[in-house]
Amino acid sequence: MSNSIVPKQDNHIIKPEVEIQKSIEENGDLEIYKKYNEFGYELFDANGNHPISDDERKMMILQLEQKFKEVLDILRISRSDPNATDTPRRIAKMLVNELLVGRFSKPPALTVFPNRKKVNNLVISQGIEIMSICSHHWLPISGTCTVAYIPGDYVIGLSKISRIVNWFARRPQIQEELGEQIADYFEELLKPQALGVVIKARHYCMIARGVRGSEEQSIMTTSVMRGLLMEEQSLRNEFVNLIQL
Ligand SMILES: [Zn+2]
Repeated sequence: MSNSIVPKQDNHIIKPEVEIQKSIEENGDLEIYKKYNEFGYELFDANGNHPISDDERKMMILQLEQKFKEVLDILRISRSDPNATDTPRRIAKMLVNELLVGRFSKPPALTVFPNRKKVNNLVISQGIEIMSICSHHWLPISGTCTVAYIPGDYVIGLSKISRIVNWFARRPQIQEELGEQIADYFEELLKPQALGVVIKARHYCMIARGVRGSEEQSIMTTSVMRGLLMEEQSLRNEFVNLIQL
């Protein structure tokens, strides 16, 4: 079998490696710092949020589908393989509607309630499932999140906590920033006396790439403590004992 490249037509000549490399070197910096994409939409951080309309969403899926066809072509995957035929569209929909949905959707509607009984102890929501992808490799981060707070004037329903957590998780993330984003949001929303966000997750970019010792190293625990949980060691101990990490 020959490995030689046979361009089908004259206008379809594959660029030699040096030329691609040269183009990256010449245009590289401009590409990194540009503010808008080729369609005029503003670019923003991977774990940021700019809600989009249904029409924009449909257009985004179509555009992505075209690009993923190119990706398959570059990887020399034939789409006449029945398992690959619709893969570009599947990946496009999965990214926009599932894995990255937190970038493009409004925050979940929330109601906070007055803290009528003057609850002055830890309220802990544990075992909130998290599915995210890492910003560096776009491979899954899967784990659980614990959110705890001592109410100030407000309390919130447990199911709402998990919806907020996942609104932030469903973006390309790094776990450290995910915890801070969640904490910032609840701090602003509830103005609690104490707040803790603990995430324990498995990073598949370690496992999938076969990084040495990845079975243990792939599990990362991050904790964010605010207010009384930051200031009072005894409260922090109580919290850690309660969630038994
Ligand atoms: Zn990674």
